[in-house]
Amino acid sequence: MAKSYDVIIVGAGMVGALSAILLAKSSLRIALVDKHHGDYTLSVPPAYDSRVSAISSQSKTLLEEAGVWQGIATDRIACYDNMVVWDGLGDGYIDFSAGATAMPELGHLLENAVLNDQLIRRARETNLLDLYLGDTLESHHLSESGVRVELSSGYALDAQVLIGADGAMSTLRIENDFETIEWDYGHHAIVATIEIAQPHGNTAWQSFGEEGILAFLPMPSVNQRHFVSIVWSVPPSEAASLMALDEALFCRRLQYAMNSRFDVLSVTQPRQAVPLRQRHAKQYVKAGLALIGDAAHTIHPLAGQGANLGFSDAKVLVEVLSKAHRRGECLGASNVLRRYQRARMLDNIAMAAGMEAFKRLFSTQQPALVQLRNMGMKQFHRSTSLKKTLIARAAGLTSFS
Ligand SMILES: Cc1cc2nc3c(=O)[nH]c(=O)nc-3n(C[C@H](O)[C@H](O)[C@H](O)COP(=O)(O)OP(=O)(O)OC[C@H]3O[C@@H](n4cnc5c(N)ncnc54)[C@H](O)[C@@H]3O)c2cc1C
Repeated sequence: MAKSYDVIIVGAGMVGALSAILLAKSSLRIALVDKHHGDYTLSVPPAYDSRVSAISSQSKTLLEEAGVWQGIATDRIACYDNMVVWDGLGDGYIDFSAGATAMPELGHLLENAVLNDQLIRRARETNLLDLYLGDTLESHHLSESGVRVELSSGYALDAQVLIGADGAMSTLRIENDFETIEWDYGHHAIVATIEIAQPHGNTAWQSFGEEGILAFLPMPSVNQRHFVSIVWSVPPSEAASLMALDEALFCRRLQYAMNSRFDVLSVTQPRQAVPLRQRHAKQYVKAGLALIGDAAHTIHPLAGQGANLGFSDAKVLVEVLSKAHRRGECLGASNVLRRYQRARMLDNIAMAAGMEAFKRLFSTQQPALVQLRNMGMKQFHRSTSLKKTLIARAAGLTSFS
């Protein structure tokens, strides 16, 4: 006999788990399925996990509404109130500060494992939410009026609608023939945690130059020692050479690429290289199924927006489904799910286009274009209103649509 729910979510990553908790709070019965067992081993500070995310103020508000943010230990969260961006090939420079835009902070940084761990803990405490962890989607059947899912454990689940939050290589997207527009960014991102000699000043530092796109993201200091998480995006061959360097040489290259703003002391968590691909599903929904988060779209991490876009998908989809439930509409009906797609697609496409334009603008080393780029950055740096607009967008307080 199949167990009945209102919604089945495949994927209990950041986006799927948050959606499940928020939907259960709206009195919907939820099944949350993930092949991961849900038990995260957290590293001990200052050996911060290499994968971290910049969380916007809108995402923080959503995580608070879900009761997740309050459970995260404060010594695992770094607040940043400044951001400095410069062109390594010229003197173009822009700084953003929370103070100048009347915001309490620009955002927060935290380790993905810490956030995932807290989301699963909160999901376990949530009424109306059943977890199927360490379990995989075996087969599924979709229709306007209801969906059926079989798991590898043998469980059969029924619901009105299925949500695909199963990440960039989404089985649900691929098996249901969703077309995508995608291309390789020609970049791999090297991520690691680094100890530096000087305080980071609660500032996110980002350099665009010959050495690639490099971000130093502040992590909490421990006993007067200072740490940053790095995201260093370079062509794949360059990433392979950087990964092959011993620690001392890697630190020297890193320091050079950061224009020696900091003395790089050591790598406290092993380096990882992640290939970067832009992907966007042409549709997010089909009868009985909605894709959210990385299952629907992935972008370059240079502005730290991927998970934040996924959280915005979750917010809108929860609103659409809760309203439809109150009206007695079938949650999997195409006309219901298209409301979610209409509300989110333009914003996600605009962000993807912005990241591509940024990446191309900073990839060129043609002298005339570099000069123009630097002039543009200087103009931007002088414009408080442009900075306010960009910060409000990055914080999720405004959208393009
Ligand atoms: C280097 C780098 C830096 C980044 N920095 C930032 C940042 O600073 N800020 C930001 O907002 N974003 C950032 N991002 C993007 C962000 O990491 C992703 O957008 C986000 O993790 C996507 O979450 P998700 O829940 O959609 O997918 P995922 O985290 O991939 O979760 C998918 C889940 O689905 C499960 N799953 C998959 N298939 C199945 C199946 N068949 N059955 C059961 N379970 C399944 C998986 O186990 C997994 O738990 C960065 C990305 C990269 C690569």
